[in-house]
Amino acid sequence: KKILEAKNIVKTYNRNTKNEFEVLHGISLEVYEGDFICIMGPSGSGKSTLINNLSTIDTPTKGSVFINGKSVNKMMETETGKFRYENLGFVFQSFNLMDTLTIRENIAVPLTLAKVGKDEIKERVEAIANKLEINALLDKYPAECSGGQCQRCAVARALVTNPKLIVADEPTGNLDSKNSHDLLALLKNLNEQDHVTIIMVTHDAMIASYSKRLLFIRDGVIDEVIEREGLDQ
Ligand code: ADP
Ligand code: ADP
Repeated sequence: KKILEAKNIVKTYNRNTKNEFEVLHGISLEVYEGDFICIMGPSGSGKSTLINNLSTIDTPTKGSVFINGKSVNKMMETETGKFRYENLGFVFQSFNLMDTLTIRENIAVPLTLAKVGKDEIKERVEAIANKLEINALLDKYPAECSGGQCQRCAVARALVTNPKLIVADEPTGNLDSKNSHDLLALLKNLNEQDHVTIIMVTHDAMIASYSKRLLFIRDGVIDEVIEREGLDQ
């Protein structure tokens, strides 16, 4: 089942009115449920721009993106918030947890935005905390947690709405190798056991070697695709 389709997306930034800069030159991509896609490429090649344009964070200048069959380009600003927490989970390099909220409150943010009731929030936050083995952290603040613990909590926040698609931009970029391995194991498990689809930008070849499909971006185009599905990892 197709979960995401990008058709010929172009992204142009206006550095000023006379100086336009085309970062993505027409990228097409089909993503199927259960995929685990890694995107690699040199710094500045457009990886973050691509993942942002695929996931409603940014809007392509030309071309279209469909997620679960819905065209997200034409979606009104007011709709994207709801669409995001119903369809997508985000994990970032810098965790993006809110310092003034406890881990429990951070994980609850997408549910709070979705206006889920208080009792159900408590239940769902505790269920995902159990699954990711972070129960002991729930009443701590991000500053009291290690980097690896913070990223686990950020993954819990991404998963708490049960999204079918996780979008991650260098999720291991601020983690040491032990924590990177642990995060990879967690993502692999979600992909294999729960059939969560993953699209991840990474600089780490070891992490990328576990993906089912590896895309190399160079100067705003997909330069090379390596299919790994079926390989015994
Ligand atoms: P990568 O993630 O591969 O390092 P990015 O997608 O972040 O690459 O950036 C690709 C190019 O687009 C870079 O030259 C970057 O400077 C430029 N760029 C990214 N975001 C913006 C923006 N908001 N405005 C203007 N230029 C941008
Ligand atoms: P990454 O590590 O993901 O490649 P960058 O350091 O390239 O991130 O960019 C961080 C942020 O700054 C992004 O949101 C990107 O859109 C923005 N950005 C990058 N380059 C530029 C630029 N030349 N002008 C304006 N914004 C930019």
